[in-house]
Amino acid sequence: MSKYLNEKFRSLVEYVPGEQPKDGEYLKLNTNESPYPPGPRTRAALRDPDLGKRLRLYSDPDSGELCRKLAETYGASRNVSAAAAPAGASAAGTKTAAGGLAPENVYVGNGSDEILNFIFMEFCEGGVLFPEISYGFYEVFADLYGVDFVKVPLKEDFSIDPADYADCGRTIVIANPNAPTGRVLSLAEIEAILKTNRENLVVIDEAYIDFGGDSAVALTGDYDNLLVVRTYSKSRSMAGARLGFAMGAKAIIDDLVKIKYATNPYNVNSLTAAAGLAALEEPGYYRENCRQIQETRNWTTEALTDLGFRVVPSTTNFIFVTTDRIGGSELYQGLKQRKILIRHFDIPAIRQYNRITIGTRRQMEYLVETIDRMLGEEQL
Ligand code: PMP
Repeated sequence: MSKYLNEKFRSLVEYVPGEQPKDGEYLKLNTNESPYPPGPRTRAALRDPDLGKRLRLYSDPDSGELCRKLAETYGASRNVSAAAAPAGASAAGTKTAAGGLAPENVYVGNGSDEILNFIFMEFCEGGVLFPEISYGFYEVFADLYGVDFVKVPLKEDFSIDPADYADCGRTIVIANPNAPTGRVLSLAEIEAILKTNRENLVVIDEAYIDFGGDSAVALTGDYDNLLVVRTYSKSRSMAGARLGFAMGAKAIIDDLVKIKYATNPYNVNSLTAAAGLAALEEPGYYRENCRQIQETRNWTTEALTDLGFRVVPSTTNFIFVTTDRIGGSELYQGLKQRKILIRHFDIPAIRQYNRITIGTRRQMEYLVETIDRMLGEEQL
């Protein structure tokens, strides 16, 4: 720490990302990346020679084309009631002719982390509420901006009780499905939270929604206190491109844009924008990857259950597991020695657990075999 660092940051505890070893020696099941590469059209877009030449220019600060295409893609999933409303009638902003989302309802950012950063910076002066066990960055952002936060305990089975979030008088941030537990709230439960918090912003972080569960995008037409945050990092295999987006009422999107123009107007670079746009042209490819991951998740759940693990029901691309056969930290360390990385959190309530990203079927077979062998050796 230098002597120049501002006093207020001296005690800040940063977010610790999962390990990213450089040697390629490890089977990486620790950061919920996709085991599949981006689709052929997405990769072809990056090889476009014009794109390379255009890099001398700044990227589009509005990410206009991407916002338009995202609005078109996700607008189709809005509520029937919203879709039936006359154009421009909703509090959630201008409607397209078809009644879906308008580009003004979409914000794109440098990963969803950037969007979450802005949310804690600009919407939380009245305090924020989030689940006690959830994405670790929420607390870091709250500390960074000196935001008063309340952490709501989960139920014993790691599920969120929507009643805990009723009429809470502050901003709410919920990862749905939640991480690292993998548990999901239904759309009806999300709607119950929205209904009793009409005056509070409700942020639903849907980093993992494509692997199961219903997106709250369907509710953005009816609730102008809802902001849905999504990412290309998981189901669209683009963690390295850093692309996230948010959907909600035009007024909220305008506020995000305001902070973007006050910090980093060219937040989405041209290469990422081109890849992000192309990915929307091949939804079938990504849908099939999600299906494979769901199938492999189910297989892994059964295989680990057979080995004596308890697996929290997951609707994500990871599973949260524990066993009486070995300590949580010991399992993590043992697998690391065997060149497999999983994620262990040194937090008392979940110290006995590990989060395991779902890879390909072969990778998961290798994981299960390795655990089986390791536990056998432990008993000798
Ligand atoms: N939300 C949750 C719940 C996550 O687990 C992650 C990924 N670690 C993110 C947001 C951030 O994703 P990204 O910045 O890659 O879009």
